[in-house]
Amino acid sequence: MRGYDKTMPAAYNELLDATIQHLEDLKSRGVRNVAVSKETLRALALPAKIISTPAPAHKNETIISMPANKNADASGSSPVTRHLAAPKQSEGGSSPDKAAAFAELQKRALSCVKCPHLASSRKNVVFGVGSIDAQLMFVGEAPGADEDEQGEPFVGRAGQLLTKIIQATGLSRADVYIANILKCRPDTPGQSAGNRKPTPDEMAMCIPYLHEQIDLIRPKVIVALGATAVDGLLGKTVGITKLRGNWQTYRGTPLMPTYHPAYLLRNQAMSEKRKVWEDMLAVMEKLEMSISEKQRNFFLKA
Ligand code: URA
Repeated sequence: MRGYDKTMPAAYNELLDATIQHLEDLKSRGVRNVAVSKETLRALALPAKIISTPAPAHKNETIISMPANKNADASGSSPVTRHLAAPKQSEGGSSPDKAAAFAELQKRALSCVKCPHLASSRKNVVFGVGSIDAQLMFVGEAPGADEDEQGEPFVGRAGQLLTKIIQATGLSRADVYIANILKCRPDTPGQSAGNRKPTPDEMAMCIPYLHEQIDLIRPKVIVALGATAVDGLLGKTVGITKLRGNWQTYRGTPLMPTYHPAYLLRNQAMSEKRKVWEDMLAVMEKLEMSISEKQRNFFLKA
């Protein structure tokens, strides 16, 4: 086995070896040209990302310009090599026990009625999404209307921005884990729209699920998005403006507080985007991910 790309399935590398061997045999027998169909030629000309594992499709209307993944690396390396440089999964991978424990936890959360007012108003329990072996975990506040509708965290406007931020690091939503302090949408009786912050009682009731999620995933780094996430995980009510960018510790795991993406939607100043991006650069460094010059310079004035 020549070991071309450890990220590809063994069958792919075996096929590649066999193809090279076949071409070398032909060459040694004096063959100088081989016939290749148009389809094969077209497939060979496709960029490497087409053959890498695709990230799950996600609706991605442009909201504000975060650098897209395809522009994230100025070094010219393909998405496949960039993924090699970016740690995604914790060592050892998932054991059946871990997957079963996670499934059992999810089942419990999905049928939770500890907050009767939320259990009766919710459409879905929004448990979490991503890899249970992720090295990087994002924690937000609570589901909004879109998340309640779809049963997935961070799928609304703020979520689409979070997706762009994740992609700008070279990772995808499937590489990380995303969850919230509260698994149900805070109800807004008498209102047809709008969100409200979770109450301390709701947070205290729901936080054990998040603790269990973190205990099972054991991420290397947690990013707390906004003041409620910091408060829920660390019990700190210091302003997020003071705290962001400063490493904290959640039960021994490094935790980076940063602004909630909803804040960036409200305040579109380049300086604020840069602050969040600097926090992400610190996270990438902590995870020993490679960082290109282009990534380092995102949101710096020319
Ligand atoms: N805001 C959050 O904090 N969480 C979500 O899932 C969506 C928006």
